[in-house]
Amino acid sequence: MKILIINSGSSSIKYQLMEMPSQQIRCTGIVERIGYSDTIFKYRTDFVELLETEPIKNHKVGLQKIADYLLNPKKGVIKDSKEIKIVAHRVVHGGNTFSRTARITSEVKNKIQQLCALAPLHNPANLEGILMAEHIFSSAKQVAVFDTAFHQTISTKAKKYAIPNEFFEKGIQVYGFHGISHDYVSKKAIAFLKQSESKIITLHLGNGCSVTAVQNGQSIDHSMGFTPSNGLIMGTRSGDVDHGLIFYLVNSLGYSLEDVNTLLLKKSGMLGLTGHGDLRDIQREAEKGNKDCQLAMQMNAYRIKKYIGSYVAAMNGLDALVFTAGIGENSNVLRAMVCEGMEYMGIRLDKSKNRNKSDGVWEINTSDSSVKILVIPTNEELEIARQAHALLNGSHN
Ligand code: ADP
Repeated sequence: MKILIINSGSSSIKYQLMEMPSQQIRCTGIVERIGYSDTIFKYRTDFVELLETEPIKNHKVGLQKIADYLLNPKKGVIKDSKEIKIVAHRVVHGGNTFSRTARITSEVKNKIQQLCALAPLHNPANLEGILMAEHIFSSAKQVAVFDTAFHQTISTKAKKYAIPNEFFEKGIQVYGFHGISHDYVSKKAIAFLKQSESKIITLHLGNGCSVTAVQNGQSIDHSMGFTPSNGLIMGTRSGDVDHGLIFYLVNSLGYSLEDVNTLLLKKSGMLGLTGHGDLRDIQREAEKGNKDCQLAMQMNAYRIKKYIGSYVAAMNGLDALVFTAGIGENSNVLRAMVCEGMEYMGIRLDKSKNRNKSDGVWEINTSDSSVKILVIPTNEELEIARQAHALLNGSHN
């Protein structure tokens, strides 16, 4: 069965065509910078790889172009759009309404629309992707897989903010994000551990960064909150700050609320500390002796360590620490900094295993480490395809 996976962002559409249950990837690509004059269109199959730059004015045109290529007699991988049986959409915010993957109906679309207020940058683009896909692939079943759903198991004591109760009733609480990735890598770690009970911390370190405490397969706490802005230091986001600084910026330094928002989400984090948003550049500069870059790396690792400490306390122990996403999978330097000085918790890194890249679930702890340290490449597309396939084949758990 062919499943088209769509991850529609504010100015991009990532897509993948996958055969399920064999998990064979037939086509993968991205349309980036939608709405600009130099939109980048990437398309790759077993026999074609191309990159085109041309104006693509909106998501509708972008998705139509993807469909045209999929159906192209020479470059395509399908002969008829009816071959696509499911279009599975990543939807960022499912609020409290969606604790699992859902078949898309008018009611589901209305609810995703209502949740736009909670995720103004993401849900409108996700919804637009759904509407376009319904139009272009009208015979396919449409499914929504939510980034927040995995965190619906977080207990009230962990997800409620200590503000008057009426705000909790209004839906102001921790929702959590990157759930598809945390779900995927924690399941891989559980399979690796082969234990009936498990305490795992998953570190998703990419442009956005978050950490989840996963006990017996369920998310019990998570570093992002009501929005994906708090917690760890990210590429351009500050993560945790004292909210009092927002009032100081507005009342004493004359910032508008819009300016503060831009400052904390787009100009802070590693970019604000070093002038670089990409960790590869920061590592290179740090090695050359750049003090700002060295300090930013230390701050980043220190923040992660503090979250690990608090989640070990929350779970009363730890069986595995999992690194994933662009930085988690590739930066042996940051992994080493995070694991340093954690021996008292049973976290012991094998420095040479950490440096020598390996495939699949990659164990980088010493043999006497009581905690497994694992590098597990995330695969959100596969998780989305699996959940959509399971939902429509009656094996959804
Ligand atoms: P996104 O959150 O956009 O999906 P990714 O998971 O692809 O992001 O992670 C992107 C980040 O991964 C980049 O900021 C880059 O700093 C980091 N990264 C990728 N490769 C390496 C590497 N070899 N060493 C250090 N950092 C890397």
